[in-house]
Amino acid sequence: MLKVQELQVNYGGIRAVKNISFEVPDGSIVTLVGANGAGKSTTLKLLAGLQKPYRGEVRVTGKTALLPQEVQTLFAKKTVREDLAEVTSDEAMLAYVTALCRLDALLDRHPYDLSGGEQQRAALAKVLLTRPDILLLDEPTRGLDAAFKAELAELLHDLLAQGVTVVLVSHDVEFCAAYAQRCALFFDGSIASDGA
Ligand code: ATP
Repeated sequence: MLKVQELQVNYGGIRAVKNISFEVPDGSIVTLVGANGAGKSTTLKLLAGLQKPYRGEVRVTGKTALLPQEVQTLFAKKTVREDLAEVTSDEAMLAYVTALCRLDALLDRHPYDLSGGEQQRAALAKVLLTRPDILLLDEPTRGLDAAFKAELAELLHDLLAQGVTVVLVSHDVEFCAAYAQRCALFFDGSIASDGA
């Protein structure tokens, strides 16, 4: 479903991604870890098709959806309810995702008035409503409490069972170790190691 070869991305004089190749097996959770500025978010944006490589190839089969690091950029309406309704009118799907992301009590709030963790959950709901084949998550556990992290892991495993593939960037190494099948360690624009 997902393969990148010899990717290179430059921002002006900065070589953010130097030469990256990897494959993501279908139906798995793969995590990208590494220090700030190592090129993880840029790689995720390439997978989402939001950015073009300077060199190299990105091959993606299926629909991708990206939960960006700046989740506020996903909110466009005055309430969480309207923001979710913007994605789909499927009432059953809306009810399912609202419950899954524990948003029932937040539906009539302004998205910008929510806490960091609540915004994370509302943004994740918006992304899930698009029913992606490949879910790309940039630091999804940021601001989440331990209980919701465990629920997120369960949710990701449910999605895997439905055939969804997950690529997530995280600084939460414990979360990655507990729930991912593979991990790619980024260092200075390259992958230093990639394994189970
Ligand atoms: P973090 O963990 O802090 O999110 P990251 O591993 O995701 O870091 P990237 O955000 O991909 O790293 O950034 C890689 C490099 O590219 C960094 O040096 C960063 O400063 C630079 N960079 C990222 N986005 C831009 C941009 N839009 N314009 C210029 N430079 C950028």
